[in-house]
Amino acid sequence: MKKAAEKSTAKSTPAGKTASAKSTAKKAAPAKKAAPAKKAAPAKKAAPAKSAAVEAAAVKGAAVKKAAPPKKVTVAPEKAIAAVRKASPVKAVAPKPPKGESNTALVRRARRINRELAEVYPYAHPELDFENPFQLLVATVLSAQTTDLRVNQTTPALFAKYPTPEDLAAADPEEVEEILRPTGFFRAKTKSVMGLSKALAEEFDGEVPGRLEDLVKLPGVGRKTAFVVLGNAFGRPGITVDTHFQRLVRRWQWTEETDPDKIEAAVGALFPKSEWTMLSHHVIFHGRRICHARKPACGACPIAPLCPAYGEGETDPEKAKKLLKYEKGGFPGQRLKPPQSYLDAGGTPAPPLAGR
Ligand code: SF4
Repeated sequence: MKKAAEKSTAKSTPAGKTASAKSTAKKAAPAKKAAPAKKAAPAKKAAPAKSAAVEAAAVKGAAVKKAAPPKKVTVAPEKAIAAVRKASPVKAVAPKPPKGESNTALVRRARRINRELAEVYPYAHPELDFENPFQLLVATVLSAQTTDLRVNQTTPALFAKYPTPEDLAAADPEEVEEILRPTGFFRAKTKSVMGLSKALAEEFDGEVPGRLEDLVKLPGVGRKTAFVVLGNAFGRPGITVDTHFQRLVRRWQWTEETDPDKIEAAVGALFPKSEWTMLSHHVIFHGRRICHARKPACGACPIAPLCPAYGEGETDPEKAKKLLKYEKGGFPGQRLKPPQSYLDAGGTPAPPLAGR
């Protein structure tokens, strides 16, 4: 057991020494071919020379066919929305595979990406600190428009002073505002967390309900927040469609949808329900650390050979490494403190990056 965990940990650091060795061995091809790939991008259509991205994907078989149309997909949301509007039902709709890709191939490719990410981030977990469903609910509401780190720095004082929904509901708003000020939009957030605390105290006996339909009725709680709570505090599968999730699934051409509810339905159809929560963590971890919005670190990306958007970011391995983001003092792709369940299962933290 321990061996297995260690093995997976070793893979978990795409830019770390161990991971880099594996990742290089496994995925060196796309990285090296990166430079020509970028320049050759227009040539892809002219077809004279095989582009690096295509060659890289060719190694992996089916993924190749999808290398050609990728960038367009991300750029034409209006069309996608229009197409979507016609397809009336949101839930349980089969995803629309990219051109030329069968639904089966799409499912296989998506699951393979998730499996790879599971190896890279075996300890993926919600990055908000919480000790009970109430704390997670409040922390998730506070995380809008700010970082989880900032929220984690703010909530200890909040929960020390107001440990229960009843306490927070009865608080002096000005005092709560003062505590929440560092998270931004602190007046609106104060209103939300006090409002939802009041609703919890009055309608749910001070307990956070474990049903989606109840959660979304609470002030300031949408489907995204509700799924975070259901998945991580109640163990009920849910897909968290945040900004990272939306960006990455479109880059991977898992769906062309742009509406979060429709993305949730389309991606949900690609995976068994039991995988939804961890899938969300994997994707969000990857979006925060490697596949950034503006400068994805393609040259240091462990799933590059499977990615139709390879080349959208920096493909030079050395330059790409510099784009990777870790928490200050932390390890690649990991917070300072992996979850206890991961350590209990024999998992060990990855070594820190040399020179960081
Ligand atoms: S970093 Fe690049 S190769 Fe990796 S998933 Fe993002 S776009 Fe694809």
